[in-house]
Amino acid sequence: MSYFVENVRRRAQTAASEPRVLERLRAIVGAEHVLVDAEKVEPYAQDAVKEKFPPEAVLLPRTAEEIAAILRLANEERFPVTARGGGVGYTGGAVPVEGGVVIGTDRMNAIKEISPDDLYVVSEPGVTTYELHRAVEAHKLFYPPDPASYKESYIGGNIAENAGGMRSAKYGVTKHYVLGLEVVTPTGEIIRTGGKTSKNVVGFDLTGLMCGSEGMLGIITEATLRLVPLPEATETVRALFHSMKEACACVARFSRARVTPVAIEVLDKNSIKAVESEFAFGLPEEAEALLLVSVDGALEEVVRAANAVEEILLEGGGFSVLRAATREDEDRLWDVRRALSPSMKKYGTLKLNEDVVVPRSRVPELVEQVEEIGRRHRTFVANFGHAGDGNIHVNFMCDREDPESIARARLAVRDTFRVAVELGGTISGEHGIGYVKAPYLDMALDASTIDAMMRIKRALDPNGILNPGKMFV
Ligand SMILES: Cc1cc2nc3c(=O)[nH]c(=O)nc-3n(C[C@H](O)[C@H](O)[C@H](O)COP(=O)(O)OP(=O)(O)OC[C@H]3O[C@@H](n4cnc5c(N)ncnc54)[C@H](O)[C@@H]3O)c2cc1C
Repeated sequence: MSYFVENVRRRAQTAASEPRVLERLRAIVGAEHVLVDAEKVEPYAQDAVKEKFPPEAVLLPRTAEEIAAILRLANEERFPVTARGGGVGYTGGAVPVEGGVVIGTDRMNAIKEISPDDLYVVSEPGVTTYELHRAVEAHKLFYPPDPASYKESYIGGNIAENAGGMRSAKYGVTKHYVLGLEVVTPTGEIIRTGGKTSKNVVGFDLTGLMCGSEGMLGIITEATLRLVPLPEATETVRALFHSMKEACACVARFSRARVTPVAIEVLDKNSIKAVESEFAFGLPEEAEALLLVSVDGALEEVVRAANAVEEILLEGGGFSVLRAATREDEDRLWDVRRALSPSMKKYGTLKLNEDVVVPRSRVPELVEQVEEIGRRHRTFVANFGHAGDGNIHVNFMCDREDPESIARARLAVRDTFRVAVELGGTISGEHGIGYVKAPYLDMALDASTIDAMMRIKRALDPNGILNPGKMFV
């Protein structure tokens, strides 16, 4: 039984478990890189959703050629193949719900080239986002996408999920930084999309197609990523508010003042209550919303922008305004945001963590309606997230051992998706669909659009080999 969906088709065994097939897989990647023992495949059975779907075998290839050979064999023998990055996805994308093999990209972890003159980095898919940040920052370069999972997530997983993060308010999401890819198609051909230049309009934009394709249209084996110069300075300002409406109204005022903060994070009153009761940051009880705003750029520009932000927050009704210009002081302000996930635990043993997105001016309406949904379904809900781009993390807490509380939380999720769509938004801003949100896809997309996507999938993957059981089930 899945906590999240009814329609998962678990398959006990496929041809991947047959000794003669395993022998051929060993010949492709080397016997030591084929894992079949239960305790060895166990770490590859789940992602951040924390539901277990053990693979029949885990393969750890080193090259695109090996992956191409695996996929050709999978088409011949008809067993499912699922690619895996860091395994910290929030929608079950990397778990083999229909059995078969998992291709772990852990050994494909080289940064091949950094070009300070042409502003790009060439990376294999198994490099963590954090390692990539550090490597390019050593050259005073900047790779802005920063999912909060950056210490564990891989570049391949980031591209496949088109990951966002706190810095999206100013810098956009992963797809805005992907210049070119090497990809193994589901039928086992190696193709190259895009290139190393920031302009390239030759042929269809297959790079764009691969970004956010959730490991269903190809396996990324190399990525050329766009870089920008590392900003000289940053500052962070924090303010508390008496209402979510007041807090969110500041977002448009920043734009009118011609300030584009790098991050604008908002916490609602339940989030504040949760972190305060767990970690005692000293946040007053009357605080109904909290805004954290960071600016970056050249030193003088940052001072001007931080002054403007502080003024706007105060004029907009902000109180207990704090400003930090050193890395340590900024970190202290951001600790509140980082404390959110651990502080939710006491409200339930199972978190249904959604990441709906609405036009940013509609965030207060979204939060108001979600609070009402939580009351209606008797489920604790905390809202926080990226006010700068309207991507709000809605966390419904329930009890893993209590099917009735899970059922109520799932009704709350469905109602939340409906509200997000009604407000002009959609059901996921950065976590993707996977198997967890597949039942809700038609709330966000019409039948012809889903059909167009399914036709692309069938054209590239006629035998349904790559990551079956996701998105369209
Ligand atoms: C604490 C926490 C915080 C998070 N914060 C954010 C956030 O701020 N922003 C955000 O966007 N997400 C966030 N996430 C979600 C998640 O970390 C991202 O989706 C991330 O991009 C997943 O990367 P991964 O390497 O773990 O991918 P995995 O979970 O391993 O895989 C995700 C999908 O990508 C596919 N895939 C993996 N590698 C490849 C490849 N080489 N080629 C083709 N397909 C591949 C898989 O098949 C799967 O469908 C968070 C998750 C956690 C647990």
